[in-house]
Amino acid sequence: MLGDIIYKKLDELAEFSKDGEGVTRLPFTKEHKEAITWLEDLMNSANLTTKIDNIGNLIGEYKSPTKNAKTLVIGSHQDSVINGGKYDGALGIVLPIMCFKDFYETHGALNYNIKFIAFADEEGVSFQTAFLTSKAVVGSFTPDLLERVRYDGKTLKKSLENFGLNADISECKINDVDTFLELHIEQGPILDNKNLSLGIVDAIQGIERYHVEITGFAGHSGTIPMDMRRDAGVGAAFVISRITEFAENLKNIVVTVGCLELIPGAVNVIPGKSIFSIDIRAMDPLLIKTMVDKINSVLSETCEKRDLSFVLERKMKADSTICSKNVINMLEESMKSAGVPIFHMTSGAGHDAQEMATIMDAGMLFIRCKKGISHNKEESVMTEDIDVACKVLAEYFKCYK
Ligand SMILES: [Zn+2]
Repeated sequence: MLGDIIYKKLDELAEFSKDGEGVTRLPFTKEHKEAITWLEDLMNSANLTTKIDNIGNLIGEYKSPTKNAKTLVIGSHQDSVINGGKYDGALGIVLPIMCFKDFYETHGALNYNIKFIAFADEEGVSFQTAFLTSKAVVGSFTPDLLERVRYDGKTLKKSLENFGLNADISECKINDVDTFLELHIEQGPILDNKNLSLGIVDAIQGIERYHVEITGFAGHSGTIPMDMRRDAGVGAAFVISRITEFAENLKNIVVTVGCLELIPGAVNVIPGKSIFSIDIRAMDPLLIKTMVDKINSVLSETCEKRDLSFVLERKMKADSTICSKNVINMLEESMKSAGVPIFHMTSGAGHDAQEMATIMDAGMLFIRCKKGISHNKEESVMTEDIDVACKVLAEYFKCYK
């Protein structure tokens, strides 16, 4: 069955990872190069012609013999988080290619074109901004992003050049495309709880990410009385607990402080600086705005009270997205034809589909992952669910118009 073959292919792709637990495949690295070389072979074996655009996206194209044919775009991201799983992103690249190969070999030519994309950087681990490479595809990439610096001190521009790309991002914009479809593991527990293989995504939450720096004054932990300290670590602790409480009461919003660093970070030194991240997600943009206003006021109050100063900088923003009715209808039709129960849901996680939706009809199909575990080496999917997704995608290939 196709499910078993795809499952094995995903094991192979997962080998292109930095040493350590799970999969670590960051963009513009040796592992990325190895992965896209492997994916290029897979695309070629599926009768696709391949190219790599100037931001490192691998694109496999099927050209229909039909004149003035429409173009369907299908894709997901090749990169992972640090110590992530085998299926986040990867499943949405490998499954559609393998499914298309099977479909084409059985049914012959299609009356529309398809572009399969393996996006280089979706997670934003290296340059602290998500959807970097789908932004380039839709033309919303701004040149300042090229100056972003990653973990080894290299700018994005330099990383692209070292990867063999010329960094002329304007060339990446795709035109004459009609629909984008992304298949992705759910990364949450809803499908598993309902014992369903698939879910149609109706909408994707909006995200904003912030970088916060609180500055105080470092000093000896033994000699400076409590009331004479300018402790940036304590400032951060108060801010984090107050904004978390606020979010809990606000409802329908989630707020996460995932990174926190105290500087200099020694057991006997009062922190002179604290640096942390804030990730905010909600469907309603007004709720996000309310949260950001609150963060500003809590930072001001806390810093004033404790003689500290702060900088709050937005690193990333993606609006919430309503998926295309057209794509939702075709997914419903495909599930019906495949005899699969229809279930609708929203996405708590952000996806390249949000960027793609800014220039074309876009939608998503979620595949169950065990217990909703993701961004973790324990991430897992069942071959039976891959088979069900293939059946539905084959019906989608039939009904796409
Ligand atoms: Zn993903």
